[in-house]
Amino acid sequence: MKLRKVKVILYRVEAKTKETLFSFFDTAYRFVSAYGEPPSAVPEFKDAGIQESPPGISGASGTGETGTGKFRSLEEISEKVKACKNCGLHAGRKNAVPGAGAEQAFVLIIGEGPGAEEDLRGEPFVGRSGQLLDKMLEAISLSRLSNVYIANVVKCRPPGNRDPLPAESAACSEFLKAQIDLIKPKAILVLGRIAAQNLLATKEGINRLRGRFFDYKGIPLMPTYHPSALLRDENLKRPAWEDLKLFREKLRSLEPEYERKFAEGKLKRNSAGGKHIPGAGN
Ligand code: SF4
Repeated sequence: MKLRKVKVILYRVEAKTKETLFSFFDTAYRFVSAYGEPPSAVPEFKDAGIQESPPGISGASGTGETGTGKFRSLEEISEKVKACKNCGLHAGRKNAVPGAGAEQAFVLIIGEGPGAEEDLRGEPFVGRSGQLLDKMLEAISLSRLSNVYIANVVKCRPPGNRDPLPAESAACSEFLKAQIDLIKPKAILVLGRIAAQNLLATKEGINRLRGRFFDYKGIPLMPTYHPSALLRDENLKRPAWEDLKLFREKLRSLEPEYERKFAEGKLKRNSAGGKHIPGAGN
């Protein structure tokens, strides 16, 4: 009898150990896939609740009629962007970059503006930082192929990759506002200082804004570091991962089934040969 009890206890310990080991390696795999770094125990977690809106948070800068009243579809916005000459950035562009991603996106990713590679190809986040962004998103069960749309504050490349001027961001804001109105994302992830300051109408730095949720017209919005900043400074990858985990928690609370749907969609795509789902903005 005593021997049986010992066997049961040993079996339970073994099962628990296996579960712990699996959980550890799964976390390590996700992390290394995304960043090439081992995970670490992070003692501090910030409040993932909706915080007070800073002044001006209820709308991006700029004026003009926006949203579904002016644009009926993402395709229409893309066409207008490609023909737009509302600011000086049109003069230097090879291609405008309206945005791209899944038609049924429930998350909107907002960056600053196109770089050289994006300007050449007319798609957002296609260079090295785009590859890193895809890995970051994959780590929290998001992808531009299934549940994410990616857009920028300005749709044409600023020369020399300089920051967009306030007047350029304002001139372009009607397109981003309309994209938000049409997509109606459940949550918004903002990449980098420029985009965060623009969306939140604040001068706060990214180190103070990142990892916090704000309210953007009723939509939870969280800024984090831009992938290109992570490529420049490896030390930022860990805090960025902490931000992403907070964002994942928020998504789980908003859409409890989203990870399962993502996994099923990925399986389907893989069995269909990884076919690209063209974004409405492409
Ligand atoms: S950046 Fe925006 S406002 Fe300026 S030309 Fe391009 S699409 Fe038009």
